[in-house]
Amino acid sequence: MLCIKNGTVIDGISDVPYKADILIDKGKIIHIGENMGNAADEVIDATDKWVLPGLVDSHCHLREPGFEYKEDIGSGTRSAAAGGFTSVACMANTNPVVDNAAMVNYIKSIARAKGVVKVYPVAAVTKGLEGQELTEMGELKEAGAVALSDDGRPIMNSQLMRLALQYAKGMGMLIISHCEDLSLVGDGVMNDGYMSTVLGLKGITRAAEEVMVARDIILAEVLDAPIHIAHVSTRGSVELIRQAKRRGVKVTCETAPHYFCATDEWVDGYNTNAKVNPPLRTSDDVEAVKQGLKDGTIDIIATDHAPHHRDDKEVEYSLAANGISGFETAFSLAYTHLVETGILSIQELVQKMSKRPAEILNIDAGTIQVGKPADVIVVDLHRTYTVDVSKFYSKGKNSPFNGCTLKGKVIHTIVDGKVVMKNEKVII
Ligand SMILES: [Zn+2]
Ligand SMILES: [Zn+2]
Repeated sequence: MLCIKNGTVIDGISDVPYKADILIDKGKIIHIGENMGNAADEVIDATDKWVLPGLVDSHCHLREPGFEYKEDIGSGTRSAAAGGFTSVACMANTNPVVDNAAMVNYIKSIARAKGVVKVYPVAAVTKGLEGQELTEMGELKEAGAVALSDDGRPIMNSQLMRLALQYAKGMGMLIISHCEDLSLVGDGVMNDGYMSTVLGLKGITRAAEEVMVARDIILAEVLDAPIHIAHVSTRGSVELIRQAKRRGVKVTCETAPHYFCATDEWVDGYNTNAKVNPPLRTSDDVEAVKQGLKDGTIDIIATDHAPHHRDDKEVEYSLAANGISGFETAFSLAYTHLVETGILSIQELVQKMSKRPAEILNIDAGTIQVGKPADVIVVDLHRTYTVDVSKFYSKGKNSPFNGCTLKGKVIHTIVDGKVVMKNEKVII
Protein backbone atom coordinates (compact mmCIF):
# COMPACT_ATOMS: atom_id res chain seq x y z
CA MET A 1 0.00 0.00 0.00
CA LEU A 2 1.10 3.52 -0.84
CA CYS A 3 0.05 6.64 1.04
CA ILE A 4 0.39 10.21 -0.23
CA LYS A 5 0.36 12.17 3.03
CA ASN A 6 -0.47 15.72 4.07
CA GLY A 7 -1.00 17.17 0.61
CA THR A 8 -3.61 19.66 -0.57
CA VAL A 9 -5.85 17.68 -2.89
CA ILE A 10 -7.61 18.92 -6.01
CA ASP A 11 -9.62 15.91 -7.07
CA GLY A 12 -11.23 17.25 -10.23
CA ILE A 13 -14.70 16.81 -8.70
CA SER A 14 -14.95 19.12 -5.66
CA ASP A 15 -14.88 22.87 -6.18
CA VAL A 16 -12.49 23.47 -3.30
CA PRO A 17 -9.08 22.01 -2.50
CA TYR A 18 -8.81 20.07 0.78
CA LYS A 19 -6.09 18.55 2.96
CA ALA A 20 -6.12 14.77 2.92
CA ASP A 21 -4.09 11.59 2.74
CA ILE A 22 -4.65 9.30 -0.22
CA LEU A 23 -4.34 5.56 0.25
CA ILE A 24 -3.56 3.43 -2.79
CA ASP A 25 -3.63 -0.35 -3.14
CA LYS A 26 -3.46 -2.68 -6.16
CA GLY A 27 -3.43 0.23 -8.58
CA LYS A 28 -6.58 1.89 -7.23
CA ILE A 29 -7.37 4.70 -4.84
CA ILE A 30 -8.94 2.94 -1.88
CA HIS A 31 -9.37 5.76 0.63
CA ILE A 32 -9.20 9.54 0.90
CA GLY A 33 -9.13 10.84 4.46
CA GLU A 34 -7.02 11.74 7.48
CA ASN A 35 -4.12 10.01 9.21
CA MET A 36 -3.84 6.98 6.97
CA GLY A 37 -0.05 6.74 6.75
CA ASN A 38 0.16 3.93 9.30
CA ALA A 39 -1.57 1.46 7.01
CA ALA A 40 0.94 1.96 4.19
CA ASP A 41 4.32 0.40 3.52
CA GLU A 42 5.37 3.29 1.28
CA VAL A 43 4.72 6.94 2.13
CA ILE A 44 5.12 10.01 -0.03
CA ASP A 45 5.21 13.18 2.03
CA ALA A 46 3.26 15.90 0.23
CA THR A 47 3.44 18.53 2.98
CA ASP A 48 3.23 22.03 1.42
CA LYS A 49 2.56 20.42 -1.93
CA TRP A 50 -0.50 19.85 -4.09
CA VAL A 51 -1.91 16.49 -5.11
CA LEU A 52 -3.61 16.48 -8.50
CA PRO A 53 -5.05 13.88 -10.87
CA GLY A 54 -2.39 12.72 -13.35
CA LEU A 55 -2.37 14.90 -16.45
CA VAL A 56 -3.99 13.55 -19.62
CA ASP A 57 -2.60 14.55 -23.02
CA SER A 58 -4.96 14.23 -25.96
CA HIS A 59 -2.27 14.94 -28.53
CA CYS A 60 1.35 13.84 -28.73
CA HIS A 61 3.81 12.24 -31.13
CA LEU A 62 5.82 9.31 -29.77
CA ARG A 63 7.49 8.67 -33.18
CA GLU A 64 7.63 4.88 -32.86
CA PRO A 65 7.68 3.02 -35.19
CA GLY A 66 9.78 4.56 -37.91
CA PHE A 67 11.37 7.60 -36.29
CA GLU A 68 13.03 6.17 -33.18
CA TYR A 69 16.00 8.52 -33.67
CA LYS A 70 13.58 11.35 -32.69
CA GLU A 71 11.73 9.52 -29.88
CA ASP A 72 10.43 6.08 -28.99
CA ILE A 73 7.65 4.87 -26.76
CA GLY A 74 10.12 4.25 -23.90
CA SER A 75 11.76 7.69 -23.99
CA GLY A 76 8.51 9.47 -24.86
CA THR A 77 6.57 8.01 -21.95
CA ARG A 78 9.43 8.71 -19.53
CA SER A 79 9.30 12.31 -20.74
CA ALA A 80 5.53 12.28 -20.22
CA ALA A 81 5.95 10.95 -16.66
CA ALA A 82 8.50 13.68 -15.95
CA GLY A 83 5.93 16.24 -17.09
CA GLY A 84 3.18 14.78 -14.90
CA PHE A 85 1.26 13.04 -17.67
CA THR A 86 -0.12 9.63 -16.72
CA SER A 87 -2.17 9.03 -19.90
CA VAL A 88 -1.22 10.15 -23.40
CA ALA A 89 -2.91 9.77 -26.77
CA CYS A 90 -0.36 9.39 -29.57
CA MET A 91 -0.94 10.40 -33.15
CA ALA A 92 -0.90 8.04 -36.12
CA ASN A 93 1.78 9.69 -38.30
CA THR A 94 4.41 7.05 -37.68
CA ASN A 95 6.01 4.81 -40.32
CA PRO A 96 4.10 2.64 -40.99
CA VAL A 97 1.03 4.78 -40.30
CA VAL A 98 -1.39 3.54 -37.62
CA ASP A 99 -4.21 2.96 -40.10
CA ASN A 100 -5.18 -0.66 -39.38
CA ALA A 101 -6.01 -2.85 -36.39
CA ALA A 102 -2.64 -4.64 -36.45
CA MET A 103 -0.80 -1.32 -36.05
CA VAL A 104 -3.06 -0.25 -33.17
CA ASN A 105 -2.28 -3.57 -31.48
CA TYR A 106 1.42 -3.12 -32.22
CA ILE A 107 1.50 0.31 -30.51
CA LYS A 108 -0.39 -1.11 -27.53
CA SER A 109 2.01 -4.05 -27.19
CA ILE A 110 5.13 -1.84 -27.34
CA ALA A 111 3.50 0.49 -24.80
CA ARG A 112 2.81 -2.45 -22.47
CA ALA A 113 6.44 -3.58 -22.77
CA LYS A 114 8.24 -0.21 -22.59
CA GLY A 115 5.67 2.42 -21.62
CA VAL A 116 6.03 4.21 -18.30
CA VAL A 117 2.61 5.88 -18.58
CA LYS A 118 -0.61 4.74 -20.28
CA VAL A 119 -0.58 5.08 -24.05
CA TYR A 120 -3.78 5.40 -26.07
CA PRO A 121 -3.33 5.16 -29.85
CA VAL A 122 -5.14 7.58 -32.14
CA ALA A 123 -5.62 5.93 -35.53
CA ALA A 124 -5.65 7.52 -38.97
CA VAL A 125 -8.83 8.73 -40.68
CA THR A 126 -7.47 7.90 -44.14
CA LYS A 127 -5.20 5.08 -45.28
CA GLY A 128 -1.56 6.15 -45.20
CA LEU A 129 -2.72 9.68 -44.18
CA GLU A 130 -3.12 10.23 -47.91
CA GLY A 131 -6.55 11.82 -47.74
CA GLN A 132 -7.93 9.44 -50.39
CA GLU A 133 -9.58 6.43 -48.77
CA LEU A 134 -11.13 6.05 -45.32
CA THR A 135 -9.75 3.52 -42.85
CA GLU A 136 -11.83 0.68 -41.37
CA MET A 137 -13.09 2.62 -38.37
CA GLY A 138 -14.94 -0.27 -36.76
CA GLU A 139 -11.82 -2.45 -36.69
CA LEU A 140 -9.74 0.43 -35.36
CA LYS A 141 -12.21 1.05 -32.57
CA GLU A 142 -12.35 -2.62 -31.67
CA ALA A 143 -8.54 -2.75 -31.57
CA GLY A 144 -8.53 0.11 -29.07
CA ALA A 145 -8.02 3.36 -30.97
CA VAL A 146 -9.44 6.18 -28.78
CA ALA A 147 -9.96 8.63 -31.64
CA LEU A 148 -9.22 9.17 -35.31
CA SER A 149 -6.93 11.79 -36.82
CA ASP A 150 -4.74 12.42 -39.85
CA ASP A 151 -2.79 14.87 -37.65
CA GLY A 152 0.21 16.30 -39.40
CA ARG A 153 -1.87 16.50 -42.54
CA PRO A 154 -5.30 18.04 -43.18
CA ILE A 155 -8.08 16.18 -44.98
CA MET A 156 -8.36 18.58 -47.90
CA ASN A 157 -11.26 16.82 -49.64
CA SER A 158 -14.42 18.15 -47.94
CA GLN A 159 -16.62 15.32 -49.19
CA LEU A 160 -14.22 12.77 -47.70
CA MET A 161 -14.21 14.71 -44.41
CA ARG A 162 -18.02 14.73 -44.47
CA LEU A 163 -18.12 10.95 -44.93
CA ALA A 164 -15.47 10.49 -42.23
CA LEU A 165 -17.52 12.51 -39.73
CA GLN A 166 -20.67 10.62 -40.66
CA TYR A 167 -19.11 7.16 -40.26
CA ALA A 168 -17.21 8.13 -37.12
CA LYS A 169 -20.45 9.40 -35.59
CA GLY A 170 -22.09 6.06 -36.38
CA MET A 171 -19.19 4.24 -34.71
CA GLY A 172 -19.19 6.54 -31.68
CA MET A 173 -15.68 7.73 -32.52
CA LEU A 174 -14.24 11.21 -32.32
CA ILE A 175 -12.35 12.84 -35.18
CA ILE A 176 -9.52 15.18 -34.21
CA SER A 177 -8.95 17.64 -37.02
CA HIS A 178 -5.63 19.24 -37.93
CA CYS A 179 -6.99 22.38 -39.58
CA GLU A 180 -4.79 23.62 -42.38
CA ASP A 181 -5.71 24.52 -45.95
CA LEU A 182 -2.60 23.52 -47.87
CA SER A 183 -3.50 25.69 -50.87
CA LEU A 184 -3.37 28.72 -48.56
CA VAL A 185 -0.21 27.56 -46.78
CA GLY A 186 1.72 27.31 -50.05
CA ASP A 187 5.41 27.41 -49.23
CA GLY A 188 4.94 29.56 -46.11
CA VAL A 189 7.11 28.73 -43.10
CA MET A 190 5.95 31.11 -40.33
CA ASN A 191 3.00 33.33 -39.41
CA ASP A 192 2.29 35.91 -42.09
CA GLY A 193 2.74 39.37 -40.64
CA TYR A 194 5.23 41.98 -39.52
CA MET A 195 7.80 39.43 -38.35
CA SER A 196 7.73 37.40 -41.56
CA THR A 197 8.35 40.62 -43.47
CA VAL A 198 11.21 41.63 -41.15
CA LEU A 199 12.82 38.20 -41.43
CA GLY A 200 12.17 37.85 -45.14
CA LEU A 201 10.45 34.50 -44.65
CA LYS A 202 7.36 33.35 -46.54
CA GLY A 203 4.26 33.80 -44.41
CA ILE A 204 1.31 31.49 -43.70
CA THR A 205 -1.96 33.40 -43.56
CA ARG A 206 -4.12 32.78 -40.50
CA ALA A 207 -6.87 32.06 -43.02
CA ALA A 208 -5.18 28.69 -43.72
CA GLU A 209 -6.27 27.56 -40.26
CA GLU A 210 -9.53 29.47 -39.97
CA VAL A 211 -10.99 28.37 -43.33
CA MET A 212 -10.64 24.74 -42.23
CA VAL A 213 -11.97 25.37 -38.72
CA ALA A 214 -15.02 26.98 -40.36
CA ARG A 215 -15.42 24.09 -42.81
CA ASP A 216 -15.17 21.45 -40.11
CA ILE A 217 -17.64 23.27 -37.87
CA ILE A 218 -20.12 23.50 -40.76
CA LEU A 219 -19.74 19.79 -41.60
CA ALA A 220 -20.12 18.77 -37.96
CA GLU A 221 -23.18 21.01 -37.63
CA VAL A 222 -24.89 19.65 -40.74
CA LEU A 223 -24.31 16.05 -39.57
CA ASP A 224 -24.83 16.78 -35.86
CA ALA A 225 -21.55 14.91 -35.37
CA PRO A 226 -18.84 15.58 -32.79
CA ILE A 227 -15.52 17.05 -33.86
CA HIS A 228 -12.41 18.05 -31.95
CA ILE A 229 -10.24 20.83 -33.35
CA ALA A 230 -6.52 20.35 -32.68
CA HIS A 231 -4.05 23.09 -31.70
CA VAL A 232 -6.15 26.25 -31.98
CA SER A 233 -3.77 29.17 -32.55
CA THR A 234 -5.63 32.23 -33.88
CA ARG A 235 -8.16 34.76 -32.63
CA GLY A 236 -10.38 33.93 -35.61
CA SER A 237 -10.43 30.20 -34.78
CA VAL A 238 -11.33 30.92 -31.16
CA GLU A 239 -14.20 33.15 -32.29
CA LEU A 240 -15.51 30.60 -34.83
CA ILE A 241 -15.56 27.89 -32.15
CA ARG A 242 -17.14 30.24 -29.60
CA GLN A 243 -20.02 31.02 -31.98
CA ALA A 244 -20.42 27.35 -32.95
CA LYS A 245 -20.66 26.29 -29.31
CA ARG A 246 -23.36 28.91 -28.76
CA ARG A 247 -25.35 27.34 -31.60
CA GLY A 248 -24.97 23.91 -30.01
CA VAL A 249 -22.49 22.41 -32.47
CA LYS A 250 -20.74 19.40 -30.90
CA VAL A 251 -17.30 20.95 -31.23
CA THR A 252 -14.51 20.69 -28.68
CA CYS A 253 -11.00 21.99 -29.06
CA GLU A 254 -7.54 22.16 -27.63
CA THR A 255 -4.66 24.57 -27.68
CA ALA A 256 -1.02 23.93 -26.75
CA PRO A 257 1.14 25.89 -24.29
CA HIS A 258 3.20 27.54 -27.03
CA TYR A 259 0.07 29.24 -28.37
CA PHE A 260 -0.47 31.10 -25.09
CA CYS A 261 3.20 31.52 -24.08
CA ALA A 262 5.03 32.52 -27.26
CA THR A 263 4.60 34.66 -30.37
CA ASP A 264 6.08 34.87 -33.85
CA GLU A 265 8.67 37.28 -32.41
CA TRP A 266 10.32 34.16 -31.00
CA VAL A 267 11.27 33.19 -34.57
CA ASP A 268 13.66 36.19 -34.56
CA GLY A 269 17.22 35.04 -35.22
CA TYR A 270 15.74 32.27 -37.39
CA ASN A 271 15.16 30.15 -34.30
CA THR A 272 14.13 26.77 -35.64
CA ASN A 273 12.99 25.66 -32.17
CA ALA A 274 10.17 28.19 -32.57
CA LYS A 275 9.08 26.57 -35.84
CA VAL A 276 5.84 24.73 -35.28
CA ASN A 277 2.65 23.95 -37.17
CA PRO A 278 0.39 25.88 -36.91
CA PRO A 279 2.97 28.64 -36.59
CA LEU A 280 3.39 30.84 -33.52
CA ARG A 281 1.11 33.83 -33.95
CA THR A 282 0.94 37.40 -32.60
CA SER A 283 0.40 38.75 -29.10
CA ASP A 284 -3.21 39.53 -30.10
CA ASP A 285 -3.76 35.83 -30.87
CA VAL A 286 -2.11 34.86 -27.57
CA GLU A 287 -4.60 37.12 -25.75
CA ALA A 288 -7.51 35.55 -27.66
CA VAL A 289 -6.32 32.02 -26.83
CA LYS A 290 -6.08 32.98 -23.14
CA GLN A 291 -9.58 34.47 -23.26
CA GLY A 292 -10.83 31.30 -24.97
CA LEU A 293 -9.33 29.20 -22.19
CA LYS A 294 -10.89 31.43 -19.56
CA ASP A 295 -14.42 31.50 -20.97
CA GLY A 296 -14.46 27.78 -21.80
CA THR A 297 -14.35 28.08 -25.58
CA ILE A 298 -11.06 26.16 -25.49
CA ASP A 299 -11.83 22.96 -23.60
CA ILE A 300 -8.38 21.56 -22.98
CA ILE A 301 -4.62 22.05 -23.12
CA ALA A 302 -2.69 19.40 -25.08
CA THR A 303 1.06 19.31 -25.59
CA ASP A 304 1.36 18.40 -29.30
CA HIS A 305 4.68 16.99 -28.03
CA ALA A 306 6.67 16.78 -31.28
CA PRO A 307 10.26 15.72 -30.55
CA HIS A 308 12.88 16.02 -33.27
CA HIS A 309 16.51 15.05 -33.69
CA ARG A 310 18.94 18.00 -33.79
CA ASP A 311 19.68 17.17 -37.43
CA ASP A 312 16.05 18.05 -38.24
CA LYS A 313 16.35 21.44 -36.52
CA GLU A 314 19.96 22.53 -37.05
CA VAL A 315 19.32 23.51 -40.64
CA GLU A 316 18.16 26.60 -42.50
CA TYR A 317 14.89 27.86 -40.98
CA SER A 318 12.75 27.16 -44.02
CA LEU A 319 13.98 23.55 -44.15
CA ALA A 320 13.64 22.77 -40.43
CA ALA A 321 11.05 20.31 -39.12
CA ASN A 322 7.97 21.64 -37.32
CA GLY A 323 7.45 20.90 -33.65
CA ILE A 324 8.27 21.45 -30.00
CA SER A 325 9.26 18.83 -27.42
CA GLY A 326 6.45 19.67 -25.04
CA PHE A 327 5.81 17.14 -22.25
CA GLU A 328 8.34 18.41 -19.75
CA THR A 329 7.36 22.08 -19.81
CA ALA A 330 3.57 21.93 -20.35
CA PHE A 331 2.43 22.02 -16.73
CA SER A 332 4.89 24.72 -15.66
CA LEU A 333 4.13 26.88 -18.70
CA ALA A 334 0.40 26.61 -18.05
CA TYR A 335 0.79 27.27 -14.34
CA THR A 336 3.11 30.25 -14.88
CA HIS A 337 1.20 31.88 -17.74
CA LEU A 338 -2.40 31.05 -16.79
CA VAL A 339 -2.69 30.48 -13.03
CA GLU A 340 -0.03 32.86 -11.69
CA THR A 341 -1.49 35.57 -13.94
CA GLY A 342 -5.05 34.99 -12.66
CA ILE A 343 -6.52 33.77 -15.96
CA LEU A 344 -7.41 30.33 -14.57
CA SER A 345 -7.63 28.95 -11.05
CA ILE A 346 -5.58 25.86 -10.28
CA GLN A 347 -8.86 23.91 -10.19
CA GLU A 348 -9.68 25.12 -13.70
CA LEU A 349 -6.22 24.10 -14.88
CA VAL A 350 -6.85 20.58 -13.52
CA GLN A 351 -10.08 20.51 -15.54
CA LYS A 352 -8.23 21.49 -18.71
CA MET A 353 -5.23 19.19 -18.30
CA SER A 354 -6.76 16.15 -16.56
CA LYS A 355 -10.52 15.81 -16.29
CA ARG A 356 -11.80 17.21 -19.60
CA PRO A 357 -9.21 15.55 -21.84
CA ALA A 358 -10.09 12.20 -20.22
CA GLU A 359 -13.79 12.90 -20.88
CA ILE A 360 -13.15 13.90 -24.49
CA LEU A 361 -11.08 10.74 -25.11
CA ASN A 362 -13.57 8.68 -23.07
CA ILE A 363 -10.86 7.09 -20.91
CA ASP A 364 -10.98 6.20 -17.22
CA ALA A 365 -8.72 8.95 -15.87
CA GLY A 366 -8.60 12.58 -14.86
CA THR A 367 -9.97 12.55 -11.30
CA ILE A 368 -8.95 11.46 -7.82
CA GLN A 369 -11.78 9.26 -6.55
CA VAL A 370 -12.08 6.13 -4.47
CA GLY A 371 -12.23 3.08 -6.75
CA LYS A 372 -10.58 4.87 -9.68
CA PRO A 373 -7.12 4.11 -11.13
CA ALA A 374 -4.43 5.67 -8.93
CA ASP A 375 -3.03 8.14 -11.47
CA VAL A 376 -1.83 10.95 -9.26
CA ILE A 377 0.83 13.66 -9.33
CA VAL A 378 2.37 15.74 -6.57
CA VAL A 379 3.35 19.26 -7.59
CA ASP A 380 5.25 22.05 -5.88
CA LEU A 381 3.53 25.29 -6.84
CA HIS A 382 6.10 27.45 -5.00
CA ARG A 383 9.02 26.04 -6.86
CA THR A 384 10.73 28.27 -9.45
CA TYR A 385 13.24 26.74 -11.87
CA THR A 386 14.99 27.31 -15.18
CA VAL A 387 14.19 25.02 -18.11
CA ASP A 388 17.25 23.04 -19.23
CA VAL A 389 16.59 20.91 -22.31
CA SER A 390 19.77 18.90 -21.73
CA LYS A 391 17.96 17.39 -18.74
CA PHE A 392 14.88 16.37 -20.74
CA TYR A 393 14.01 12.67 -20.67
CA SER A 394 12.73 13.13 -24.21
CA LYS A 395 15.20 12.50 -27.01
CA GLY A 396 13.85 15.74 -28.51
CA LYS A 397 15.66 18.76 -27.05
CA ASN A 398 13.79 21.09 -29.40
CA SER A 399 12.17 23.64 -27.14
CA PRO A 400 12.08 27.43 -27.51
CA PHE A 401 11.54 27.56 -23.73
CA ASN A 402 15.09 26.46 -22.91
CA GLY A 403 16.45 28.93 -20.35
CA CYS A 404 13.01 30.26 -19.36
CA THR A 405 12.28 30.61 -15.66
CA LEU A 406 8.99 28.96 -14.76
CA LYS A 407 6.98 28.34 -11.63
CA GLY A 408 5.23 25.12 -10.55
CA LYS A 409 7.03 21.81 -10.87
CA VAL A 410 5.86 18.20 -10.95
CA ILE A 411 7.75 16.30 -8.21
CA HIS A 412 6.19 12.81 -8.12
CA THR A 413 4.18 10.89 -10.71
CA ILE A 414 2.15 7.81 -9.86
CA VAL A 415 0.62 5.61 -12.58
CA ASP A 416 -1.82 2.86 -11.58
CA GLY A 417 -0.47 3.07 -8.05
CA LYS A 418 3.14 2.71 -9.14
CA VAL A 419 5.59 5.54 -8.40
CA VAL A 420 7.23 6.20 -11.79
CA MET A 421 8.79 9.56 -10.92
CA LYS A 422 10.07 10.25 -7.41
CA ASN A 423 11.70 13.52 -6.36
CA GLU A 424 11.84 14.65 -9.99
CA LYS A 425 13.66 11.50 -11.12
CA VAL A 426 11.96 8.98 -13.39
CA ILE A 427 12.79 5.72 -11.67
CA ILE A 428 11.71 3.13 -14.21
ZN1 LIG B 1 -1.44 18.90 -36.17
ZN1 LIG C 1 0.40 16.99 -33.74
